[in-house]
Amino acid sequence: MVRYVYAFTEGSRDMADLLGGKGANLAEMTRLGLPVPPGFTVTTEACRTFLTTGGEPAGLAREISDHLTVLERAAGRRLGQPDDPLLLSVRSGARFSMPGMMETILDIGLNDDSVLGLAKSSGSERFAWDSYRRLLQMFGSTVMGVDSALFENAMARLKEDCGAVDDLGLDAADLAGLVETYKELIRQETGESFPQSPARQLQRAVLAVFQSWNVERARLYRRREHIPDGLGTAVNVQTMVFGNLGPDSGSGVAFTRDPATGRAGVYGDYLANAQGEDVVAGIRNTMPLEELGRLNPEAFSRLCGHMATLEAHYRDLCDIEFTVERGRLWMLQTRVGKRTAEAAFTIAAELTDEGLITADEGLVRVSGDELARLTFPRFDTSTIGDPLAHGIPASPGAAVGAAVFDSAEAVRRAAAGEKVVLVREETTPDDLPGMVAAQAVLTSRGGKTSHAAVVARGMGKVCVCGAEKIGVDPQGRRFTVGDITVEEGTVLSVDGSEGAVYPGAAPLVDSAVMRYFETGERSDGLVDAVARAMQHADGVRRLGVRANADTPEDAARARRFGAEGIGLCRTEHMFLGDRRRLVEAMILARTDTERERALDALLPLQRQDFTGILEAMDGLPVTIRLLDPPLHEFLPDRTELAVRLAAAEAHGSPPSEHDAELLDAVNRMHEENPMLGLRGVRLGLVAPGLVAMQVRAIAEATVERRRAGGDPRAEIMVPLIDTVEELRLVRQEVEQVLADVSEESGVSVVCPVGTMIELPRAALTAGRIAEEAQFFSFGTNDLTQTTWGFSRDDVEAAFFSAYLDKGIFKVSPFETIDRDGVGRLMEIAVAEGRAARPGLKTGVCGEHGGDPESVHFFHAAGLDYVSCSPFRVPVARLEAGRAAL
Ligand code: ADP
Ligand code: MG
Ligand code: MG
Repeated sequence: MVRYVYAFTEGSRDMADLLGGKGANLAEMTRLGLPVPPGFTVTTEACRTFLTTGGEPAGLAREISDHLTVLERAAGRRLGQPDDPLLLSVRSGARFSMPGMMETILDIGLNDDSVLGLAKSSGSERFAWDSYRRLLQMFGSTVMGVDSALFENAMARLKEDCGAVDDLGLDAADLAGLVETYKELIRQETGESFPQSPARQLQRAVLAVFQSWNVERARLYRRREHIPDGLGTAVNVQTMVFGNLGPDSGSGVAFTRDPATGRAGVYGDYLANAQGEDVVAGIRNTMPLEELGRLNPEAFSRLCGHMATLEAHYRDLCDIEFTVERGRLWMLQTRVGKRTAEAAFTIAAELTDEGLITADEGLVRVSGDELARLTFPRFDTSTIGDPLAHGIPASPGAAVGAAVFDSAEAVRRAAAGEKVVLVREETTPDDLPGMVAAQAVLTSRGGKTSHAAVVARGMGKVCVCGAEKIGVDPQGRRFTVGDITVEEGTVLSVDGSEGAVYPGAAPLVDSAVMRYFETGERSDGLVDAVARAMQHADGVRRLGVRANADTPEDAARARRFGAEGIGLCRTEHMFLGDRRRLVEAMILARTDTERERALDALLPLQRQDFTGILEAMDGLPVTIRLLDPPLHEFLPDRTELAVRLAAAEAHGSPPSEHDAELLDAVNRMHEENPMLGLRGVRLGLVAPGLVAMQVRAIAEATVERRRAGGDPRAEIMVPLIDTVEELRLVRQEVEQVLADVSEESGVSVVCPVGTMIELPRAALTAGRIAEEAQFFSFGTNDLTQTTWGFSRDDVEAAFFSAYLDKGIFKVSPFETIDRDGVGRLMEIAVAEGRAARPGLKTGVCGEHGGDPESVHFFHAAGLDYVSCSPFRVPVARLEAGRAAL
């Protein structure tokens, strides 16, 4: 026989799956001997059965009534007993806390008779009628489905009629009248009377709490918090205690330390002569918890004692709900409390110092997401007004700047020392210079993995994307929101953590944690706590952390942030800007000599880039990827060119020969699916001289650094391999160039040659590929794209939100690695690669390298390192440490 009900005296904190968080913790407090009003918990399993069958689980009623009998015996009163009623609360409580999402019904057991008994036994008529009207209100809305606003309106009208400022201004007669109004309201709205039978009230309340699991707001909350829909809620049935019995009663919430800063010392709010729901509802102003010490020193000192007990027992910050009934303290709830990022680090350090937890446990209690939050400057939220628009918080932080509407303008103004916000419908690689120049990027289209979002996150730049309410007009150099128009140059404040845009310059608060990563300066207790967590993580992690960096500046920053090398140096960024002309010349070359001349012109520039990066990363590995994107990405846009030529023709001027040639090339090279076209290793194999030029630049840079007394450690990485044959051919060319340069210079240049694993075929034939590859680096962006068959640039806007809504996946596979599919391919590749080449080095260089959850998977999969953007390096270090515990 399944058992559906447990008394508080039977449960414990590790039964949260079955009893829900609230029930498990009520049981734990009971076991600790704290004053908890007695009660019992109906299990989540009963709820699941109810939700799947639609009916009350067999035997549940019986179990509830048995447990009720035990409560009644102990109390010496029966539920709803007319002369002296036992009253109950019926409280929801799921495995994971879902604050305010589901329902609680207080004062079960009151009816037209027992309300009179309660008045007599308590000695307060006002209290009895107040309790009855609360029951009608909660039961009426939660169980019987009456719109709760109707009750609130009736109450407000009554207060107005009586001239009462708040609910304390209503006397017993007023409240008795209100009870009649409420009963009538229920009858009108439902065609049914409020059930007078206490047993029936209890039964219906329990089922209503089950049902509240599936109300719309609870579903939405679960989706946002990634809580599975199938868990169900437990129901706690508990003896009522009363905070509304007069001035020596009251209710409050408390924390064992400050949940905002983490600093030690009790912290909370108290409301005299009130039930707990009033504290959070904000119907009257609460007083700070210390006031309770003045009003009732004994209850206050007991409370402080219980809080100390709880913190020592849970070994963590606890939050608490309590009620004082005529001077006597009752504990109604506790749990390990939610906290800010700042508090998380501070508490972990302090509890470690106090010896309550180990350094390992301290590390587990902080997270990479929290760390990231601490590194961004923030707006001082106390002083900003309403936002102009909302979008998706794509890349956190706070930035202020003048609105500009194209990349060139952003660059121009930034060069003149102005701070700008680049506003676009969406961004493309052409906007890159403007994005670099801007403080923040704001787009009206695209999701969390749109170009703007990904690039901005990579650069640690603030970004709000998909702000659909704004209409961007790049020609007119303005955007509109409703009837507001924002012209170019207007100052905006962009909050990438909240996804909001404000007019004007909101004041910023700097991040001391960021300063610590930049300079090592430990300016306050929080920074010290962060530094300690980082040190511990570095001490325990097995996974190396490298950075994706394409410039000496990024490389130097990554190094300051603790990167142990570069895992991905993209060479395509080196083909942009002024060098475009040279790249064009190479593409348009008609003869070998023309092509060689173009490549020769590019060589010294590339060499210079590599020299700078190798210098910044001296002594550490720098993995350089050979050119990856299709060549036509470096040519002008097809339509743009055609328009330019047509315009010239219309004006009667001769068409530019260069433009005509370009258009010809663009047309010739056009691909329907460039991401699956002529790119990566394929390009290297068909564009003569390209690989040789890049490898020569790397080799000569190595020689230069060596001669300067440095320790350059370049590694050459070949992108988009499908088969070992491709790698074999490229590698021959690479080795030849390395040998040539060694001979010419007299300096022996040896660079490991490895490959990206970013196509399913490569992963599945990794054993063969490892014969030629000296290392693997998983390009998880492309691997995700090709494994799922998702075009990263298209799927987001097209249907990802629908897929998330339908629960097809809980998080975009471009954000967090898909363990089952993409992850499986990686595991196969690691195993077969290492079997073929023992000790084969494996790393990850996709966006996932800086994603906390993915880092844990990479650790478990046995990779050697992750590589991520410089700004994510501390996050990856921290998570790699946590993963190792
Ligand atoms: P939530 O999960 O939304 O916090 P609770 O189950 O904690 O809901 O109930 C809300 C409030 O109802 C509590 O904060 C408490 O003040 C009050 N309450 C619940 N059970 C009792 C009880 N047995 N006696 C007195 N007040 C109670
Ligand atoms: Mg509560
Ligand atoms: Mg790739």
